[in-house]
Amino acid sequence: MSRRQLEQELAALSQRVHALGWVANHDGNITVRLGDGRYLATPTSVSKGAITAEGLIVVDGEGKLVSGKGKPFTEVALHLAVYRARPDVRAVLHAHPPTATGFSVAGIEVKSTLLAEPIVSLGATIPLVPYARPRAPEWLTNLVPFLEDADVLLLENHGVMSYGPDLETAYLRMELVEHLAKIQLVATQVGLARSIPAGDQAMLLESRTAAGLGKAARNKHSAVTAAVNGATTQPKPIPNALPTPAADPLLRAIVAEELGHLLRK
Ligand SMILES: [Zn+2]
Repeated sequence: MSRRQLEQELAALSQRVHALGWVANHDGNITVRLGDGRYLATPTSVSKGAITAEGLIVVDGEGKLVSGKGKPFTEVALHLAVYRARPDVRAVLHAHPPTATGFSVAGIEVKSTLLAEPIVSLGATIPLVPYARPRAPEWLTNLVPFLEDADVLLLENHGVMSYGPDLETAYLRMELVEHLAKIQLVATQVGLARSIPAGDQAMLLESRTAAGLGKAARNKHSAVTAAVNGATTQPKPIPNALPTPAADPLLRAIVAEELGHLLRK
């Protein structure tokens, strides 16, 4: 994808996030890793509905402006913490989708285990990162324990951060969390938000790893890369890593549907 296409994709996503009502005022921000320690970003103090490809900025690894007319946003520090912890991540999206953010305000986790598919897409849990005052040291350090495992975070009294190998994946992950929050809200109102059986959760998590998602799959990949590159240090073994994609055709179908756009790449 050319730089121009990337700028257009980022601007279109920004407008989409605004149209969905996931942000108000100047809330929310989006970045893409460009390489060479630089990141394409939305500027601060602009409605996400008014972002254009021409209005984007470029920042360095410390969040300082490299080019563009706007100014960097404060929360770029949160994005950079994700990029530092996760070399596989190329896009980060932060917004305040109202239902999921409502859960974060109530201090209640949004469960990925209510339905089968989100376990494949998001893993066993969607972490609820403890609240920290913006720019306080804990603002960043609170994220760190969750970054390796999770591809989406619920930030207490704040909002949602999602990230992935591209903008579309980051978007889809946030969409799924907001959708799950709505389902959990209704289930709680009408009765009880029950998770699917534990045994099925375990099988779906194995399918997730087999599909190349999550920490175990990434560790497996880096172990193979290290072996190919003749690394002398022995990578950690992967506990219970699955050797092959889900043998069960039903599980395989769920994985294919849920991860279609990633698997097509
Ligand atoms: Zn925010």
